[in-house]
Amino acid sequence: MPYADIVLPLALPPFTFALPEGMRTAEGCAVAVPLGANRIHTGIVWRIHDRRPDRPGVKEVLRTLGAETLVDARHRAFWEWMTDYYMCTLGEVMRAALPSLMKPSARTLEEFAGAGFRPRTERFAALAPELRSAARLHELFERLARRAPRQYEALLEVASGGAGGRTGDEAAGADALPDEPFAGEVPCRLLRAERPALEALRRKGLLRFAEHEPRPQAPETGRFLLPGPSAAQQEALGAVRRQFDGGRGTVLLHGVTGSGKTEIYIHLIAETLSRGLDALLLVPEIALTAQLIARMERVFGSRVVVYHSRLTDRRRTECYLRLARDNGGRLVIGARSALFLPLGRLGLVVVDEEHDSSYKQSDPAPRYQGRDSAVMLGRLCGARVLLGSATPSLETWLNACTGKYGSVTLAERYGGVPAPRIVVSDVRRAARRGERRGPFNLLLLDRLRATLAAGGQAMLFQNRRGFAPFVECDACGWTARCPHCNVTLTLHRAGRRLVCHYCGHAEPLPAACPGCGGAVAPRGVGTERVVEELARLLPEARVVRLDRDAVTSDRAFGAVVADFGARAYDIMVGTQMITKGFDFDGVRTVGILNADNLLNMPDFRAAERAFQLMTQVAGRAGRRSEQGEVIIQTGEPDNPVIRQVVAGDYEAMARMQLAERERFFYPPYARLAALTLRHRDAALLRDAVQELAARLRGRFGRRLLGPLAPPVDRIRDEHLAGLLLKIEAGASFARARALLAAELAAFARERTFRSVTVVTDVDPQ
Ligand code: ADP
Ligand code: ZN
Ligand code: ZN
Repeated sequence: MPYADIVLPLALPPFTFALPEGMRTAEGCAVAVPLGANRIHTGIVWRIHDRRPDRPGVKEVLRTLGAETLVDARHRAFWEWMTDYYMCTLGEVMRAALPSLMKPSARTLEEFAGAGFRPRTERFAALAPELRSAARLHELFERLARRAPRQYEALLEVASGGAGGRTGDEAAGADALPDEPFAGEVPCRLLRAERPALEALRRKGLLRFAEHEPRPQAPETGRFLLPGPSAAQQEALGAVRRQFDGGRGTVLLHGVTGSGKTEIYIHLIAETLSRGLDALLLVPEIALTAQLIARMERVFGSRVVVYHSRLTDRRRTECYLRLARDNGGRLVIGARSALFLPLGRLGLVVVDEEHDSSYKQSDPAPRYQGRDSAVMLGRLCGARVLLGSATPSLETWLNACTGKYGSVTLAERYGGVPAPRIVVSDVRRAARRGERRGPFNLLLLDRLRATLAAGGQAMLFQNRRGFAPFVECDACGWTARCPHCNVTLTLHRAGRRLVCHYCGHAEPLPAACPGCGGAVAPRGVGTERVVEELARLLPEARVVRLDRDAVTSDRAFGAVVADFGARAYDIMVGTQMITKGFDFDGVRTVGILNADNLLNMPDFRAAERAFQLMTQVAGRAGRRSEQGEVIIQTGEPDNPVIRQVVAGDYEAMARMQLAERERFFYPPYARLAALTLRHRDAALLRDAVQELAARLRGRFGRRLLGPLAPPVDRIRDEHLAGLLLKIEAGASFARARALLAAELAAFARERTFRSVTVVTDVDPQ
């Protein structure tokens, strides 16, 4: 009788079941299996063999679920690599890899696997055929612009091929008419125009609508409407191709912001799709990528599949199954979880903004680095991997320097736009001279005024949410702290509430200090406070805030971005969210309100991160014809990182940081595995971490650091303690992980410490 090892979505190794006589299934397929008394789980057949398990009561697989291979041999190898490298179970990888509809109950998958599954249809808009002449269209625009501005804008959007026209992607600003009207169909969900305007245009016979499945708009021969690359881009493209053809599996594309890395991606993707292969474009955070997606959809039409964890389960499941049945020629744009999609003919993986720390999943397991995993997936699938960034991670940079990766530089901005001028403004000196107003130096305020007067826009970056990071008693120094976590509470203006950013605990701001009755005052500056100060100092400015509190949905986010692109606001104030990939024509001035926050993070990557962030923010200024200006406010104007940002000198930063990392054995010159132990009982936790430290020290000697107190040592009423394993380059990290895994397994069997949670994070970020 045959047996099958089945992977179940649990933190356990595969479990063996018997395959009933005549059941036809194969490795990588889904089956339903009984678990416990009366639970049924979906599992993935991992291995079929005839070794009877050495235990009584082996149960039978209940039934098969669809005939598709959901996880092909290469992806199974990928899952196995992930469990080995990131020290987790196949079940945990399965939880990350498959949409949850396909996991818990066998019924839901069956529903999809049956005949009931159909790709969904959607609504498309297209210009009426007689409008596809530029002359006719322009005539019409003239009339509509005056009489029906909303219809004018709607028509303009369709004529310019979709969302991009309004948000400043490509050439068309709100007033620019396209030279060549877009003749294809535009998915209605990409349009900003409201239904009534579209409806009116339909009644006038100017627009046509159709409801159907998305279908490839590009001709089947694979010829796509590609932008013409600039000379510099052409050269970079050639260099990338040569490196791939010369056998380099992974290539770094180091291109300054605004150099047009996306154009290079587009050409490489087109080549891949034309050969009938699949391409995967990974982006750090999908919500921040609307402009990029619109641009890709305009070129690749419905070959584009967008996938991320915020889609509904149903959408994700449909998408997964559709791809499992597909036969190549797709472009998937997705966040890191898209790595697991069943692309059977993967030819190219592009990792955009490869340095971005959101590629790392920190919780739950598998705690994988999406970029590093992409490189491994490429190797397993024989696909090429392109890592793109203006500020590469030092890990990637070193790999490029040592020749492990290929490397291509794109040093000039597209269209000859000069790099922004960067000005450092010393906050201490400004304070001494009475040139501080709220969180602004007068210099920055002046520049904002001048920008607004000239009709330009500005972006202000402050990496703290809320009104103030903490509140303090003026008299006795009392600060409001979270009762469940060892952190101060952040003041949020809305309702004047104090909120914990770790556990979500919220309480009202006390009217007076609970200790002495003195006055409680906000300390420090968050984005809300910046907006309030702007209202006082620049009352004429129209200001919008973009952070996790201000926009809580993708839709709200998209609306803010579109409105800012359409110049409904003058100044955008935001956190990290505003640093990535935005491309607005109107932005001339960018302010970084407090660079010291970034420089002084308690993290060995602080300098690298600060450089990356400031450079990214700076890249938002002056994207079009004229030079932009960036003002960095700091108390340390002579900090080398600040100077490197001003000079735009990535290499100087990299050299200096790498020297430091090498001296102190930090990545990329060492590999790290971080252990975090958690328990509600502080004394028990202390004993546990000391015991584990002693055992590991016995194995690893000085390579083990700790016990260490993490920056926040109590979260949600649990105490935390850390250990850090540092394995220098040259020593076997695989062997170290194996030893560590064995020690952790032995520790987990200790009765005394059984209730202590131990989390292992390999390559922590
Ligand atoms: P990066 O990702 O390197 O920061 P982008 O790809 O966003 O740069 O390009 C910057 C701007 O230049 C975008 O508005 C893009 O549309 C434009 N651009 C770049 N290359 C071309 C090209 N070959 N043809 C037309 N526009 C281009
Ligand atoms: Zn007090
Ligand atoms: Zn808390």
